[in-house]
Amino acid sequence: MNDSLGADARLSLDLALTVRPDGRGGVADDLATAEGLTEWVRAHPETVVAGSGRAVEPGVLGFRAGDAELAAVREVRAAVRALFAHAVRPGEPSPADAARLLPPRDAVALLNTRAALVPTVPVLSWTEGADPVVRQEPVGRQGSAVHPGSVAHQGPVASLESLVHQEPVVSPEPVGEGADLVAALARAAIAFLASPDRQRLRACHAPRCVRYFLKDHPRQEWCTRSCGNRARVARHHERHKKSA
Ligand SMILES: [Zn+2]
Repeated sequence: MNDSLGADARLSLDLALTVRPDGRGGVADDLATAEGLTEWVRAHPETVVAGSGRAVEPGVLGFRAGDAELAAVREVRAAVRALFAHAVRPGEPSPADAARLLPPRDAVALLNTRAALVPTVPVLSWTEGADPVVRQEPVGRQGSAVHPGSVAHQGPVASLESLVHQEPVVSPEPVGEGADLVAALARAAIAFLASPDRQRLRACHAPRCVRYFLKDHPRQEWCTRSCGNRARVARHHERHKKSA
């Protein structure tokens, strides 16, 4: 839709937009099944690959969501949509779930706990001829950045045993792709909601539309041109009914 969007905004919006118009006046859910989530993740490789520090592996193609991942991602999506509804005030939220939104406090708490599932550090990479890029990578999995010198708090002579012993502290849980995914989605939502981009967020209220979108220009009212056309036709009919 818009290439100038930051990665966090794009990812959060894409997650919210898995609840979408079904084209027949109803609402479709792309994350209704684990297969749906698998497909969505494969279309968003940054959620797994960047988060797990395995960028050189075709990890996302091997990703297969289970019911646990599905439930966890749907939970994050519910929090995101609740906070999108909160962000567009005084405008009306998307009608798709306006009647069953999480309270904003609960949604914020949920995002914070899910983001903390996989603690990350910023990792800078800068290749010749390109702009420097910073990625959030899980603590202890950022490859060459980890070496014995990094455990300074253990004193200058950390024994091999204490270094080995340190491993479980770095990864308290068996961190799988599911946790990477859920934490990456929560982190993106947190970054987007705290950014100035949030102020451009709107819900489209064209007939039969349930999408959230980011305004490209101040007077934009609808998510797409076709929604704008439909809304204008509906207004036209409404006016004619009244004047008839
Ligand atoms: Zn729309």
